[in-house]
Amino acid sequence: MKRLYKVAELPFIMCGIVGYVGAGTAAPILVRGLKRLEYRGYDSAGVATIAENVLLVEKDAGKVDELNAKLSLDRMPGNIGIAHTRWATHGAPSKVNAHPHTDCTRTVAVVHNGVLENFLQLRKELIDLNHNIVSKTDTEVVPHLIEDFMKRGMGFEEAFVNTVRRLEGSYALAAICLREPDLIMVARKEAPLIIGVGDGFNMIASDMTALIEMTNQMVFLHDGDAAAVRANGYKVFRVADGQIVERPVKTVALTVEMAEKQGHPHFMLKEIFEQPNSLRDALRTQREYVDLLAELLDKGRVVFLLGAGTSYNACLAGSYLFSAVARIPSYPVIASEFVANYGGAVGADTVILAVSQSGETADVLNALDFARMRACTILGLTNTVGSTLTRVSRAYVLQNSGPEIGVAATKTFTSQVLVLAQIALRLSRLRGKISQFEMDEFGHELSKIPKLVEEVLLTAPAKVKELAETLVNSPFLLILGRGMSVSTAYEGRLKVMELSYIPCIAYPSGESKHGPISVIEEKIPVIFVAPPDEFRKQNISSIMEMKARGAKIIVFGDKEDEELRSLADHYIGLPKTHPLLSPIIYTVPFQLLAYYLAVLKGYDPDKPRNLAKSVTVL
Ligand code: GLU
Repeated sequence: MKRLYKVAELPFIMCGIVGYVGAGTAAPILVRGLKRLEYRGYDSAGVATIAENVLLVEKDAGKVDELNAKLSLDRMPGNIGIAHTRWATHGAPSKVNAHPHTDCTRTVAVVHNGVLENFLQLRKELIDLNHNIVSKTDTEVVPHLIEDFMKRGMGFEEAFVNTVRRLEGSYALAAICLREPDLIMVARKEAPLIIGVGDGFNMIASDMTALIEMTNQMVFLHDGDAAAVRANGYKVFRVADGQIVERPVKTVALTVEMAEKQGHPHFMLKEIFEQPNSLRDALRTQREYVDLLAELLDKGRVVFLLGAGTSYNACLAGSYLFSAVARIPSYPVIASEFVANYGGAVGADTVILAVSQSGETADVLNALDFARMRACTILGLTNTVGSTLTRVSRAYVLQNSGPEIGVAATKTFTSQVLVLAQIALRLSRLRGKISQFEMDEFGHELSKIPKLVEEVLLTAPAKVKELAETLVNSPFLLILGRGMSVSTAYEGRLKVMELSYIPCIAYPSGESKHGPISVIEEKIPVIFVAPPDEFRKQNISSIMEMKARGAKIIVFGDKEDEELRSLADHYIGLPKTHPLLSPIIYTVPFQLLAYYLAVLKGYDPDKPRNLAKSVTVL
């Protein structure tokens, strides 16, 4: 199928926005749009319309149908409106934090998907100017900034554009204003935004699904674009210089089901491809919380990193990072083993950093219940604001990955590792144990990660697919790695096993001669995770050991390492990164491999058998 997006513009959807301006009543169309956006999961929703010179806003936490029954969203009057489903990144899911947000004078309403990095500074400026900021969101600065520019004499459009110029971070934004009750202003950066072109109306949305019922004529905005959308037309221009740009109108022939996956056949593939942008948002963690976490981790005599499934593998990567970057020893622990293994030895000087995408994993919460009784300090890393983990933690940090629908974790793993790397760096700065140069270099490498993952997604899929074709009938797979790559090998094992049902074993390669090598016979596939790190020579020895026994050698290694390439039957070449960040880059081909194996075997990669997304039972 033809892709609607180039890899370079891979859309990353935090949650949803939709807007309508035209001859009909906006609200019922907006509510139907919200219902269409529900498939992704969200925590709150809201609608703003303009009717008879009044800005009406209704919003709350909860499901669209419940909110509609309670607030009669679809009976709100007016021919113009915007609506939102929220996946909270700043501030718990609640009525006051739900979108749309308004300014002090209730003239402007704004909806936003994404994360604003500089909101604290903007918020402070606005409070100094006597603005009344009522929510904990990053978004609320936007209507107040627009208000401020308008106070200084600008029209709505100019005020909106000047506001967008002040924003740092990711956004799909839509705003309406009482002064121009037939105009929706929108802008995008690293979050998708589409104009739906209709007859007698126009719409905007972050997702095709919210438009498809009304029109199949769509204009896909680019990063840095803004648009002024009215009932009878629209113009697209660059935020930077105001220059008008032409964006083609595409006829989208997708069913709703296909549109939900952005043209990808499965959510998992869509989520794999979202990673460059989900990683960008993982770099937009709230600094003050990362600082707080680092301070509390530094105070612990014993530090545990606690997780289950994929999150445990992230914890394992975290323990290598904490040691190498921050010089802090930490124990990665499988949550269900924590109490039996360490329960007798923890107390008030123990710090536990619990990692859970959903924040509701029963094994994690159970371990934390025990730890709280023993007065341990609990810290959290999660993707879900308002989850139990955020409530039981002394402090937590959010990974900003947006909802993940595929049962197998993909984008949430790479983001967890990226956030743990940032915590390690902050700890390192606090403790001053490695040189300034090393810290700066590590920080620089962190910022390059999204671009490198983009490169992997541009270059690797076809080759990984070929590899999958050769492995589809394998009775089992052995995956080996050394150092940091042990966490990659474990995560690779989990992905391949849970999706293709091919039994996999993964070991630190140094251990292979202590047991696993006995399974090797002619043509048994062994995947080596071999980034260009200090273990290159040992990796080559392990490869030779396996080669001598007839194994089929598959290497995930540096794209420029010709020697390594020459030793392999299959070689997946990957871009260079800091060795400690290699799990983020090297896990991506495993995700793709698991995906293609599942598809080739006729399994549903989005719903592996016997598994649930969030395991809330012990
Ligand atoms: N950062 C915004 C918030 O937390 C928007 C989140 C979203 O994309 O839904 O309110």
